Formats: sequence, structure tokens, C-alpha cells
Amino acid sequence: MIRAANSTLSETIHFESQRREMVALQIRDRGVRSERVLAAMSAVPRHEFVPANQTAAAYSDHALPIGEGQTISQPYVVAAMTQALSLTGSERVLEIGGGSGYQAAVLSLLASEVIAIEFVPHLADAARDRLARLGYSNVQVEQGDGSMGWPAGAPYDAILVAAAAPDIPAPLVEQLTEGGRLVIPVGSVEEQNLLRVVKRGNQIFSETLFPCRFVPLRGHHGWPHDLQGKIPE
Ligand code: SAH
Repeated sequence: MIRAANSTLSETIHFESQRREMVALQIRDRGVRSERVLAAMSAVPRHEFVPANQTAAAYSDHALPIGEGQTISQPYVVAAMTQALSLTGSERVLEIGGGSGYQAAVLSLLASEVIAIEFVPHLADAARDRLARLGYSNVQVEQGDGSMGWPAGAPYDAILVAAAAPDIPAPLVEQLTEGGRLVIPVGSVEEQNLLRVVKRGNQIFSETLFPCRFVPLRGHHGWPHDLQGKIPE
């Protein structure tokens, strides 16, 4: 028992030091300067969100497979997208493409409430269980087609889309509050630009953050299935 407890403690210390290094070198040094975002990235145990055989690579500088042909995004991308939502703590946030639940966990530390929509039932169930086990009580995970948004919880102060869209889905703009922010990768299946969109009155104002590569958005406002490459059914 003592050995098991010790090894858990040394593992915890090991992961904490990897996480500190990740935040310093991959995130802060590349220009993410929001102290709140850096604190959230320092707090969430990313190794709990990757499959067991990927734990050693959890804090490395790239996306990792999470099963079903899907990925958990690169730490820098998670941090930069989160910063672009300009969260102050009081917001209600919608995430499309919940995947492992990692991005939702980061958002939950910076907002009052997060609703994460995941298309693949098995991933949605796993993310819901994981977030509950780790104590992220202000995140609700729903299975469904998030390309239509999630009207039941609308409007949202911020929406983050973690899958590549052919265009900005109209329902997502409709479900934003006045002054609400939407961060979304838009482009082709192969490559996209990360957009930050702000809704003011009946208009949207859009700025390009950086080029990126996400797995395709499925569903009504996503890509037709035959254009999605190797994504399994
Ligand atoms: N944010 C996730 C990574 C997401 S990868 C994390 O932190 O782990 C993109 C996810 O979007 C995949 O899990 C994929 O199944 C999901 N997805 C694709 N199209 C979707 C849709 N229309 N609605 C909801 N989820 C979708």
C-alpha cells in the first residue's frame, strides 16, 4: 500500500512538472499571456484525458488520438482558442466537439457553465464520466449534432468549435448573445484558419487568428460523409 501511494505521489509530481514546462514553453513563450488561461492550463491534468497508452505523451507539443478517429487538440491550440473567448468567469459557454472533455475542463475553470456537445456516443459517455470523476461539476456533456448548436441552452456568451467547418454555421451565430464570441476553424477538410467572430447587432465581425488543422465537423452544417476521409462510421 505504501509503495502504491508513493508511486502515485511521484507520478503526480512528474506530471505537474511536465505541465509546468508545457505551459511555459509551448503556451506562454508562444504568446498566450492571459494569466487566467495559463492558470487553467496549469491546473487541468491533461494525462487524465488521453488513452492509457498515450499517458507518457500527454504533455507533448501535439494533438493525440483519443479513439474513433478523433483527437485531443494540441495544448497551444486549446490555450489560444480559450484565450480568444475572453472569458471573465460569469459566462455560459458552448463547446462543439467535446471529444475527451479536456477543452471543456479548461473552459469550466474560466466560466460559470459549460455545455459540451459530442457527436460520437461512446466519446460523449466517456467524457461525461471522466469530468464527473475529476470533479468538473459545471460541465454538462450532451450527445448530438453540435453543428446545429444546442438551442435548449441558448443563448451563449461564447462558443468554441473544436472541429473543422466548411463555413460559419448560422445556428451558432443565432445562439450567441449580443457581444458574444465564437472561435471556429473554417476552411477545407485538409486545412483551415482559426476565426474569432464577434456578434454585434445583426452583424458579425471576424478576424483570422492562425492556420490550423482539425478533424472535420460532421452533421447538418458539417462535411458530407464522403469528404471526411478516414473517419469511421
Ligand atoms: N475538444 C476535444 C477534441 C475534439 S476533436 C478535446 O478536448 O478532447 C473534435 C471532436 O468533434 C471529435 O470528438 C468529433 O467526434 C466531434 N464532432 C465532429 N462533428 C461534430 C458535431 N457535428 N457535433 C458534435 N461533435 C462533433
